Amino acid sequence: MKKKLIVGNWKMNGSLQANAELLSALVQGMPAALTCGVGVAVPSLYLSQVQALVQGSSIALAAQDVSQHEKGAYTGEVSADMLKEFGVRYTLVGHSERRQYHGETDAVVAAKAQAALAKGITPIVCVGETLEEREAGKTEEVVKRQLAAVIQQLGHCISEVVVAYEPVWAIGTGKTATPEQAQAVHAVLRAQLAAATEHAARVPLLYGGSMNAANAAQLLAQPDIDGGLVGGASLKAADFLQIIAAAN
Ligand code: PEP
Repeated sequence: MKKKLIVGNWKMNGSLQANAELLSALVQGMPAALTCGVGVAVPSLYLSQVQALVQGSSIALAAQDVSQHEKGAYTGEVSADMLKEFGVRYTLVGHSERRQYHGETDAVVAAKAQAALAKGITPIVCVGETLEEREAGKTEEVVKRQLAAVIQQLGHCISEVVVAYEPVWAIGTGKTATPEQAQAVHAVLRAQLAAATEHAARVPLLYGGSMNAANAAQLLAQPDIDGGLVGGASLKAADFLQIIAAAN
C-alpha cells in the first residue's frame, strides 16, 4: 500500500510556548513504527523554532506559503531559498484562504509551485470548490481548472508535487465531505494527472476539510485518498496523533 502523508496546517496559530508544548507531545507520541509521512506547516516566523524542535524526529517541516519571486523588492514575502535555509521540505501553495483573502489566482499559485519546486521544496497544491460552486454543479470544472494551471506551468514535473483537495465549504466548518464525495473528486484529479504524467499514481492526493480523529480512518480508506491536510485538529496533539495512527 502507498505510504500515506499527514500534514498539519497550523494557520495563524501558535506561540513560542504553545509550539514547544505541541511538538514535544507529538514527538513523544509518534508511533514507534511510523510508516506514514508527517509534516507540520507553521507560520514563517516559527520555522526556525520548529526546525530545532523536530530535529531528529520523523516530523517534516512545512511552510504555509512561498513567494513566486526569487528575491528583491517584495516586502513581506518569503522566498523558497529562505525556506530552504530553515530545512523546509514542503510548502502549501494556493490554500483557499490565500486565494480568498489575498487574491491569489490560478496563475500565481502555479508560479509559486514552480518557485518551490525549483529549490527542491515540494509544493502541496491546494484546490477546492466553494459551496456555491458545488451547488451549481461546478466542482469538477473548478478543481480541474485550478490543477490545470499548475500542470501547464510544471509540465511533466507535476509528478513531483502533492495535491490537496480541500472543499472550501468543509474547511474549519466542521462539515466534512463524505468519503464518497471526496473519493469522487480525487478520482477526477488522478485522471487529470494521468493525462499529464505516467507517474500519476505516485502523486499523493490529500484530503483536507474538517478531518478529525473520528472521520480520518474512513476518508483514508478511499482508494485515491493518500493522506490528509489537517487544520484545526492538528493543533491538539492527541487528535493529530490519532489521525496519524489512522494513516499508519
Ligand atoms: C486547512 O486549513 O487546510 C484545513 C483543512 O482546516 P480544517 O481541518 O480546520 O478544516
